[in-house]
Amino acid sequence: MNPRAKASRLINLKEEEEIQLAMKKIPLRKCIACQEMKSKKELIRIVRTPDQEVLVDPTGKKSGRGAYLCNNEDCFQLSIKKKALSRALSIEISEDVYNQLASRFAGASHDK
Ligand SMILES: [Zn+2]
Repeated sequence: MNPRAKASRLINLKEEEEIQLAMKKIPLRKCIACQEMKSKKELIRIVRTPDQEVLVDPTGKKSGRGAYLCNNEDCFQLSIKKKALSRALSIEISEDVYNQLASRFAGASHDK
């Protein structure tokens, strides 16, 4: 490869990096189980409504206190073990509610 072509390739790479940085302006949220920062679309929002109901909020727009979990069963199970969800939402969560939430997580239904 001649030096000129190499230089222009580097410039292209730099532009690509800038585009990626610009795209990183997506707000990140922290998973309450594994503590990883992820974009909202990789996470599931769970909300405690003003009526003290705990439910999955697929739109992310319900009012109430929200907590985020990765969309996988591992993080969901971990959040149960750590009681991370009830701590994040400051509410006791019954097994019924956990069961309802579980059905919304990827892979949660495959061993039924
Ligand atoms: Zn997680």
